Amino acid sequence: MESSKPHAVLLASPGLGHLIPVLELAKRLVTHHAFHVTVFAIAASASPAETQLLRSATSSKLLHVVELPPVNISSLVDADAAVFTRIAVMMREVIPNFRAAMFAMRVPPSLFIVDLFGFEALEIAEFDMPKYTFVPTAACALALTLYVPTLDVEVKGEYVDRAEPLRLPGCKSVRPEDVIDPMMERRNQQYLEYIRMAIGIPKADGILLNTWEDLEPTTLRALRDHKAMAQFAKVPIYPIGPLTRSVGQEEVRTELLDWLDLQPIDSVIYVSFGSGGTYSSEQLAELAWGLELSQQRFIWVVRPPIENDHSGSFFTTGKGGEHPSDYLPEGFLTRTKNVGMVAPLWAPQVEILSHPSVGGFLSHCGWGSTLDSMLNGVPMVAWPLYAEQRLNAAMLTEELGIAVRPEVLPTKRVVRKEEIEKMRVKEVMKTGERALRKGGSSYNSLSQVASAATSFHKEYRSPVKN
Ligand code: UDP
Repeated sequence: MESSKPHAVLLASPGLGHLIPVLELAKRLVTHHAFHVTVFAIAASASPAETQLLRSATSSKLLHVVELPPVNISSLVDADAAVFTRIAVMMREVIPNFRAAMFAMRVPPSLFIVDLFGFEALEIAEFDMPKYTFVPTAACALALTLYVPTLDVEVKGEYVDRAEPLRLPGCKSVRPEDVIDPMMERRNQQYLEYIRMAIGIPKADGILLNTWEDLEPTTLRALRDHKAMAQFAKVPIYPIGPLTRSVGQEEVRTELLDWLDLQPIDSVIYVSFGSGGTYSSEQLAELAWGLELSQQRFIWVVRPPIENDHSGSFFTTGKGGEHPSDYLPEGFLTRTKNVGMVAPLWAPQVEILSHPSVGGFLSHCGWGSTLDSMLNGVPMVAWPLYAEQRLNAAMLTEELGIAVRPEVLPTKRVVRKEEIEKMRVKEVMKTGERALRKGGSSYNSLSQVASAATSFHKEYRSPVKN
């Protein structure tokens, strides 16, 4: 490790929706800002996808990935605890190991960036360096999060029972049914964890966001300048996105892409619900029938059903040994073999979305998938399941106009791509690309963070002399 270059340490929380943008951020710091970077990761599921991602990231000499051993939290959370609670508790419990690993490093860091679930690491007293919280999602989710301690005082009863939308200063109001999962039930532990997070996120020198200026100008303005909102953000906001995987970073299941090569342009709908989204057996069967009846060409990433928990496979992605024929309706695979492809558990999403034959994405609206879709100019059918996905879906349909959100699971009639304004998606795609380019708004935001850390490095971390 070269001690002449500034060293950045990034702490990622479990889940591919966190790990993927954190690794992209790490790569940008190496490639554009001359850092060497250590990423600390906590494997959620040790799925093949996660293992491969971590292995491919380590291939650069300037980017090291250290896997912290997963912490056993079974005695600390209920057996049916929400994913949000599990991640929050896991990140809290991992801090002693992380702290020890930080102090064992030969080259002391000049920049510390922590993914939002790890906010408590910002308070490790000995970490004297520029520190930032990385929020891997959109500004609208951050605004709601930062404002929730206020809503907690103002609103009586359950948020979801309200007739009126929740008003956020300077931002679009949030419909009660679109709130973030931890707000669904106020007595649940995940709500308490969420409030703690809201207070902890701004205890940094700045907040990095996986969005860009042109995508969410109103919300970003409110977070910075609207008195009633900016008082909670407290620190500068740096939109540095869109950070997501780009094509060619993983070994690809070529049969899917070979099949796509044979399909007409814009004819295939890609159906996927992120790294952890799951359906009940009934919903899964309904979606299968819908796809079959629509006679629409499709690629569908399927997982075994889990009853009553849409985030059910979050910690177990890739563990199952089942074949899709074990859980899809009988004969489905044979009857649809000429129009569709089924990919068990995981598919090379970016490669699929960038293929010209793909004309639409039926998505759970995880922010990573949303960025993948935007950056490839693919319109979406929004079918949010959990976390902040309903909020994302509202923004995509009502503000950006690049998705449609059907009222019922879009089975009987898979939405025709013409219903979605494709030109609009292409415009969004261009603004995202522009933000990332040298001189673009996100590039410049990250440059500001990098330059604060570089100055710190020059002043306090002079090269080790032998
Ligand atoms: N992803 C993928 N193939 C899959 C499912 C997911 O490559 O079959 C990637 C996708 O590109 C995205 C991430 O995994 O970057 C999932 O993040 P997202 O925020 O969409 O959803 P989450 O998994 O956190 O619900």
